[in-house]
Amino acid sequence: MKIGVLCLQGAFIEHINILNKLGIEAFEIRQKKDIYQKFDGIILPGGESTTMGKLLRELDIFDILIDKIKNDMPVFGTCAGLLLLSKEIANDNRRHLSTLNVIAKRNAYGRQLGSFNIIEKFNGKDIPMTFIRAPYIEKVGENVEILSIVNDKIVAVREKNQLATAFHPELTDCYDVHEYFINMVENNIKNLNIKRGV
Ligand code: GLN
Repeated sequence: MKIGVLCLQGAFIEHINILNKLGIEAFEIRQKKDIYQKFDGIILPGGESTTMGKLLRELDIFDILIDKIKNDMPVFGTCAGLLLLSKEIANDNRRHLSTLNVIAKRNAYGRQLGSFNIIEKFNGKDIPMTFIRAPYIEKVGENVEILSIVNDKIVAVREKNQLATAFHPELTDCYDVHEYFINMVENNIKNLNIKRGV
């Protein structure tokens, strides 16, 4: 299994470190040529969604990425990565990849409460969560499974091959969310092999 991590800006090294600790091969996606190699899943890190969205377009990676996600490649977006995936951003006119059927709110906790740590449930299990000028999800569409609710706000979801968290699991030493994602990638590899008759 090989996972690409978008390394244009933001907290990408932390994702690569966790993948390596879990024994997963990771590589950096920095330019268009990187995305043409064979890989099985992609991580969109936290950072600044507008900057990442702009760079994705400038580097001409934007449409290839949408294509891969629409063709069932597992994708995991954290914080700004969640905003890149969201179909709509309630308090921003910009749209980025727009593949995840949710309406997110950007910098949703206000300046004072923008960053905090909490232990809450992800997929039914308590884990530490770090929020940094985080979004939350105001509304989910059909087929979107809610995996975490913190202070009455939706902060982790899954829609088929797309996983998104408003918090940063890569900034804690709990690897549960990454393991959840790796499991999604493993299942997708199995399904592809079945389809190909391998
Ligand atoms: N506030 C950032 C944005 O709107 C997200 C913050 C983060 O990724 N930690 O893109």
